[in-house]
Amino acid sequence: MAYLGTPGATREIINKYQFAFQKKYGQNFLVDANILEKIIEAAGITADDFVLEIGPGIGTMTQYLCESARRVVAVEVDKMLIPILKETLSEYDNVEILNQDILKVDIKSLAQEKNAGKPIKIVANLPYYITTPIIMELFESGVPIENITIMVQREVAERMRTGPGTKDYGALSLAVQYYAQAQIVMNVSAQCFMPRPNVDSAVIRLERYKEPRVRVNDEKQMFQIIRASFNQRRKTFVNGLKNAPELNFSKEQIVKALSQIGKDENIRGEKLTLEEFAALSNYLGH
Ligand code: SAM
Repeated sequence: MAYLGTPGATREIINKYQFAFQKKYGQNFLVDANILEKIIEAAGITADDFVLEIGPGIGTMTQYLCESARRVVAVEVDKMLIPILKETLSEYDNVEILNQDILKVDIKSLAQEKNAGKPIKIVANLPYYITTPIIMELFESGVPIENITIMVQREVAERMRTGPGTKDYGALSLAVQYYAQAQIVMNVSAQCFMPRPNVDSAVIRLERYKEPRVRVNDEKQMFQIIRASFNQRRKTFVNGLKNAPELNFSKEQIVKALSQIGKDENIRGEKLTLEEFAALSNYLGH
């Protein structure tokens, strides 16, 4: 089986199986070998690695992963792709395909079962509709992760690594930056996919910190505070928290916590850094 990362090879397999692209699954397959090689290089895959691939499609990137990793588990939701993957990956004995929705997979148990709970690498050309839930789930559920190398919408990549005071800054930025060092590896044009998406893409690598970047007594509460303050972007931090049913702080408590970090009561959440959210959560207590 030849490599799939060209328009010709992709078209051939699509025609052979009369595969119909499903928009609802965000199916845009990579058809550029250069980009595929760069993704593998950025993920730093070695012969010792266990890799989870989310959404293998017809197996384009999976072939590269099988060549460089010890073991690959690829989770694909579309059952029409399973017979195709059987053919395109038939030469490899270090890959397992699971026909499941990744959002319903217990990834922590999967890492436990398939890699004895040791840190895994995750590589994906992600369907854009699941980017945020999957990233949050991967970090928050305590999956043992070394790094995540993913293709996402360019603006989402920006959102992951931007800081306070920009329009892209939000709960996703803070969650990613709490857990990982985020680095944009490259921008990828729509021409590198079949069919072409109508958004620009970027590959981002998230290298998980050994310890989170800030100290916080109650992680869950800090993220509730973060979400509450970005739920209503134009509201002040105080009003955002007051309107969140899951948080029970009085206005006085919130204003006091803000003054403890030297901030005015009219400040908005979008101006606060991760360190400041952590300090506010600690001052607010439970
Ligand atoms: N990795 C391939 C590539 O780079 O050419 C395909 C990438 S394509 C952007 C996204 C893939 O994810 C599709 O194959 C799609 O069917 C699959 N997918 C979409 N939603 C999924 C989900 N919830 N769980 C698992 N796979 C999913």
